[in-house]
Amino acid sequence: MMLDHALIQVPCPICGADSPRRLAEEGPLGIVECGGCHLVYVNPRRREPQAHYHGEREIVIRKYGPILRGERAHNRDPNYQQELGVLRRLKPSGQLLDVGTHCGFFLRMARGMGWTLTGVEPSPVGAQLAREFYGLNVVNASVEGAGFPDRSFDVVTLVDVFEHVDQPLELLAEVRRVLRDDGLLFVKVPNGRYSLFKYQLIRQLLRVREVEIFDAKEHVVHYTAETLAATLGASGFRLKLAFVPLPIQDGPWWKCALRSVAYRLARARHALGGGFGPLATDIAMVAEKTRVESTLRGAGPPTRTAAWSTTDDGR
Ligand SMILES: [Zn+2]
Repeated sequence: MMLDHALIQVPCPICGADSPRRLAEEGPLGIVECGGCHLVYVNPRRREPQAHYHGEREIVIRKYGPILRGERAHNRDPNYQQELGVLRRLKPSGQLLDVGTHCGFFLRMARGMGWTLTGVEPSPVGAQLAREFYGLNVVNASVEGAGFPDRSFDVVTLVDVFEHVDQPLELLAEVRRVLRDDGLLFVKVPNGRYSLFKYQLIRQLLRVREVEIFDAKEHVVHYTAETLAATLGASGFRLKLAFVPLPIQDGPWWKCALRSVAYRLARARHALGGGFGPLATDIAMVAEKTRVESTLRGAGPPTRTAAWSTTDDGR
C-alpha cells in the first residue's frame, strides 16, 4: 500500500485564519500557533496524516498480537481504567460510542461495566481485529460516515483520537448530533503545553536541533486546556469536568519515574486551581451539550483564549 506523504499548507482548522507563527518543527513539518485564536496546529502537515492506520493486518498483529490474544496487558490499561472510572461515576449505564476505536483496546476495558458498547473505526483492519479478538460491536467507518441516528448515545468517547482529527469542528458537530441531550462527551488529548515545554527543554539540555516530541506526522492539532475548551464551546458543548489523566507510560524506568513525578505535581497544581501547566502530559475533559444549537461554525471560538506560548507556567 502506497502512503501519501505529500505535504500541504492549511489554515487554522478552528477559526480559519491563515496567520501562523512558527513555534517548533519536526523535519519538514511546522508546529504553529494561529494568530486568530491561538490554536496550535501542524502546518505544513501531511496530506493524509492517518494513512498508516490503514495498514496491513500482519503488521498490526505483529505489533499488538500478544495484547489482542490477552497474553500481555496494554501499557495504556491503567489510563483506560482511570478514564472509565470517571465516566462510570457520571453516567453508569446507557449507550456508549467510542470514536476511533482502533483495535478496541479502550473499549474492551469497558465491557461488563453497564454500558452497551459501540465502536466506530475507519481502518478495516482495526475494526475487524476488535470484533474478532474482543467480540466488540465496531462499525468500520468514520463517525461522519457511520450514519448513526440522532441522539442515540449517552456517552461518546474520544480517547487519544481528537489530536489526529484535521477537521475537529465537523467531527464535533456529528458527535453532538448523535449524543442525547443529557449525554456526555469525553475527550482526552496530549497537552500541547507539555509538548512545547519538553521540546524546548530537550533542545536546550542536549543541544540538538532535531527532536521528535509532537508526533507531528499524525498529531495535527496540539490542544491546551484553553483551546480545547474553546473548541468544545464553539461546537455546542459546555465543560462539565476536567482532570489531569495518568501519563501514558512506556520507555525506560527513569522516564516513567519522571512522568510520575510530573503527574503528581500537575495534579496538585490543577487541584489548587492552576489549570493545566506544562507538567500535565495530557488533558481530559468531560463536556455536556448546551441547549442551543451552535451557529459558530466559521466564526471562531466564542471567547479569545489566552496566548498559548506565554511562560506563565508552573516552575
Ligand atoms: Zn485559529
